[in-house]
Amino acid sequence: MREGAVRHGHSPAWNFVVNAPPAPFSLADAIDAVLPQTQCGKCGYAGCRPYAEAIAAGAADINQCPPAGEEGLSAIAAVLGVPPKALDPRFGSSKTAAVALIEEEKCIGCTLCIQACPVDAIVGAAKLMHTVMTSICTGCELCIPPCPVDCIRMEAVATPGRVARYAAASAARSRFEARNRRVERAREEAALSLAAARVASAENKKKQTIARALERARLRLTNRKS
Ligand code: SF4
Ligand code: SF4
Ligand code: SF4
Repeated sequence: MREGAVRHGHSPAWNFVVNAPPAPFSLADAIDAVLPQTQCGKCGYAGCRPYAEAIAAGAADINQCPPAGEEGLSAIAAVLGVPPKALDPRFGSSKTAAVALIEEEKCIGCTLCIQACPVDAIVGAAKLMHTVMTSICTGCELCIPPCPVDCIRMEAVATPGRVARYAAASAARSRFEARNRRVERAREEAALSLAAARVASAENKKKQTIARALERARLRLTNRKS
């Protein structure tokens, strides 16, 4: 299906995106609207939006998202107007809904899980116990590998209904985008600080060079007079 035509589609999958954002609505927007927004990266991209853009650009196949399940994979295919494909097992397998839980007595407060969480679902501070806000956890599992004391585990939860799933996906998308903006701002601020420090260091070196040159000139003058 060509870009622009997606807004007028009548496929069953369209029910899934009934509350999708208003125009302008690109093909990548339409694909992103049916992705689970787990932001787990299992598709090989750094989140659902990059994967949606890759599909829209013809750079990725439509069956790389394990959390989408059969229904989600069919929805992607329907948006594109092509036959659905079974999940490519190289990208993982579909799992039941789950959220992360931290065994708080074991947590050493290293903050690595906070840094890994794409939707800011973990609260805590350095050297203090951390907790998962399970209501906004997408179950992406990205916090598990960085934990140095293996105190995070996944716990199965009831699979929410379609409306609740869509609402949760929209909220996760917003949190992911907000986090990315914050990370980008922090990166820019760090780059500016580094540039300012380099300028200050260069100016300092210049001042020292001038001071040394002046001192040499003063010494030469003194020697001539004596
Ligand atoms: S849910 Fe995970 S695998 Fe699926 S598109 Fe989003 S980031 Fe990729
Ligand atoms: S708490 Fe863990 S599993 Fe839940 S969203 Fe954050 S990184 Fe993913
Ligand atoms: S990564 Fe593990 S030990 Fe570190 S703060 Fe998170 S839960 Fe605690």
